[in-house]
Order: sequence, then C-alpha cells, then structure tokens
Amino acid sequence: CEISNNNGYKFFNPKMESELSNRIQMESLLRGALSRDELSLNYQPFVDTQSQNVIGAEVLIRWYNPTLGQVSPVDFIENAEQSGQIIEIGYFVLRNALKQLAYWRELYNRDFYLAINISPVQLKDSYLIDKIVQLLELYKIPGNLLEIELTENAFIHDATHAQEILNKLHHHGIRLSLDDFGTGYSSLSYLQNYPFNSVKIDRSFIRNLETSEQSRQLVNTIIAMANNLQLSLVAEGVENQFQADFVAKQGANIWQGYHLGKPVDANDFAQQYLIPSMT
Ligand code: C2E
Ligand code: CA
Ligand code: CA
Ligand code: CA
Repeated sequence: CEISNNNGYKFFNPKMESELSNRIQMESLLRGALSRDELSLNYQPFVDTQSQNVIGAEVLIRWYNPTLGQVSPVDFIENAEQSGQIIEIGYFVLRNALKQLAYWRELYNRDFYLAINISPVQLKDSYLIDKIVQLLELYKIPGNLLEIELTENAFIHDATHAQEILNKLHHHGIRLSLDDFGTGYSSLSYLQNYPFNSVKIDRSFIRNLETSEQSRQLVNTIIAMANNLQLSLVAEGVENQFQADFVAKQGANIWQGYHLGKPVDANDFAQQYLIPSMT
C-alpha cells in the first residue's frame, strides 16, 4: 500500500506506518506462539443431513496471546502466509489433529473423519505429502479419514503444481474438498480437472436464504450440480432451522454451522458428540 507522488517518490503515511508496525508486531508474536503453547485447535461438527449423525469435524486453529488477546485466524493466517510461518503452523495443525483423531478412534472406536484447512503456501512445500503420509502411518489412520480443504486460491499461481499435489493426495486415499465455493470465478473448471470429493457452499449464500430468491436459486443450482457430479455437498454457516431444512430438501449431504454446533475444543467435542449416551 505505497503511494507515489508526482516525482515518483514513494512515502508512507502514518496510518500505513502503524499498519506496518502492527504487522511486524503480530509476526514477531506469532513467531513465539508455538513454543509458548498459545495455539490450539477447535473442532466443529459435520452432521449428515439424512441420518443426522455427526460424521466428522472441521479443524479450526485458535490463537490466544496475552498481549493481543484472542486473535481470529481471519486476522493472522494471512500474516503467517506472508512470513512463511504458515508452514510450521500447518504442521502443528496436522500433527495435533491427527494425534487427536487417533486417540478418539482408540477410545470410541468410531469411524469419523477430520477436515483440515491447507493454505496455498503449504501446497508449495515439497515435504507436505511425505509429512502427511508419515503422520497417517504413525497414527494408523486410513487416508480417507483425512479431508483437505482448499480454496480456489490454491490454483492461482501454479495450477499445474497444485494439480500434481492434489493427485498425489488423492492417490493416498485422502479426500479433497473445495472450500468457499461460489466466491471465486472459475470454480467449475476446478471441479472438472481436479480430484475433489466434496464441495462446501460458502456461508454468504446460506446466510441470505430467507431473504433472497437469487440466493435460493444459486444454492439449488450448486447443490444439483454437486449431486450430478457425485460430489458430497457441505452447506456451511447453517444458523437456523429454515436454512437446515432448505438445503437438506434440495439434496445437501452435510450440515455445518452454529445451528448444529459451534467450534469447540477437543474435550467439549468428545463430551458433546463422541461419548456414547446412556439412553
Ligand atoms: P473457513 O475455512 O471458511 O472456516 C469456516 C469459518 O466459519 C470458521 O471461522 C467457523 O468458525 C465459522 N463458522 C462456522 N459455522 C458458522 C456459522 O454458522 N455462522 C458463522 N457466522 N460462522 C460460522 P474461523 O474459525 O474464525 O476461521 C476463519 C478462517 O480461518 C477459516 O475459514 C479458514 O480460512 C482459516 N483457518 C482456520 N483454521 C485454519 C488452519 O488451521 N489453517 C489454515 N490455513 N487456515 C485456517
Ligand atoms: Ca474450511
Ligand atoms: Ca469455508
Ligand atoms: Ca471462508
């Protein structure tokens, strides 16, 4: 965000300067976050629209810093991508989530999968596939119990490389999900050319279902398309019964949203969804 004046010189205004120092402060605090044990994981349930069972969960990172307080991933993931720290953070997420899954599988003996968000920057890391495969082996987790969520940004810089990585993940049985569907511009070709198993309709469409005929039409169209392509369809951001009923009736396979369950830590998740009830 530099501004050039008439002479071609560039200068920063005070607002930019404070944004810059915020960014640098965040980057340096984030650099110590792992060793200070400030990062943790939350889990948000995926609910099957037919059986109404919890069949999996999305893993969502949390950062609590004593100086900054609770920092949303919306506010620090981009910073971590720019500084490269997302690689290390990404491994923290993969390692801890898969370890948690192994523990739950042992304790509750249930088939249940986790979906993990992977940044486009992580796709460029040449060790990514090997590390994921090693973790799956270490924790004895079949590939199909791991789903990787990617946004269209994954394909912007080097679509050929992204395709290669996705094919490798697919060959290991790992599931692939296209996140935030409908917010980009050429999603349909991605669905055709990459081995996706599922599509997540962006929350912005679900949010407007009650008020906007256009959103209802778009959601119907996206669900029908996913059904035709035999892709599993996840409706994210489901906040009320109207939205839940609407997408289920149109053929969505999975609900995700506050109406079904907010993201919670591992203990709460097990309490709420995994421990068999006494009834
Ligand atoms: P996302 O992947 O689209 O994740 C869904 C976001 O929507 C999450 O926000 C979730 O808490 C929120 N959400 C779920 N249901 C509802 C609902 O019914 N209503 C509303 N208003 N919101 C709902 P969160 O946890 O703040 O994460 C924000 C974004 O940060 C994620 O968007 C994802 O892009 C990124 N992110 C989170 N964890 C990770 C991670 O481990 N790695 C990477 N690379 N990115 C992550
Ligand atoms: Ca996601
Ligand atoms: Ca999403
Ligand atoms: Ca999003």
